Amino acid sequence: MSDDERCEEYLFKIVIIGDSAVGKSNLLTRYARNEFNPNSKATIGVEFQTQSMLIDGKEVKAQIWDTAGQERFRAVTSAYYRGAVGALVVYDITRTSTFENVGRWLDELNTHSDTTVAKMLIGNKCDLESIRAVSIEEGKSLAESQGLFFMETSALDSTNVSTAFEMVIRDIYSNMS
Ligand code: GDP
Ligand code: MG
Repeated sequence: MSDDERCEEYLFKIVIIGDSAVGKSNLLTRYARNEFNPNSKATIGVEFQTQSMLIDGKEVKAQIWDTAGQERFRAVTSAYYRGAVGALVVYDITRTSTFENVGRWLDELNTHSDTTVAKMLIGNKCDLESIRAVSIEEGKSLAESQGLFFMETSALDSTNVSTAFEMVIRDIYSNMS
């Protein structure tokens, strides 16, 4: 290993986007702090959380950004997207409208990014199977047509949450090396 390699640092900015109340903030708190908040409240103050993982024996840090509720007013600013190399585009499997809006979020992401962005489509709240409105097949085929990874998650019972974030982080890492 050269001195250069030893000093290398990896810090990736990842943004979470999608309609209001799909579970973006809870996916982040589940991943970063293993916490879930049953009451939806706009996050105030915290812009991002940093989470580390080891890949090939190297410490890779992900700086994961959450909106402060501004998506409610369709007012996510370009500063939010600036420098992002990864994105989780989230919908709620119990609300079709949030799935129909995925295209808009992807357009906005593409407009604001100038590099390759590792993207994953997330169908969240898969614990609510009894009131599901978007099928797994619909999610999968949208992801395939747009060239995105796809996963259904539950921030409530933790299903696939770490797996989803880590897949995006690994993809960013592998695109770099
Ligand atoms: P955001 O507006 O996209 O950040 O969504 P929040 O994280 O604030 O979540 C909105 C609401 O959905 C809150 O009442 C959460 O408790 C709830 N919620 C979030 N994730 C899940 C999940 O995976 N399953 C269930 N059942 N509820 C969830
Ligand atoms: Mg939120």
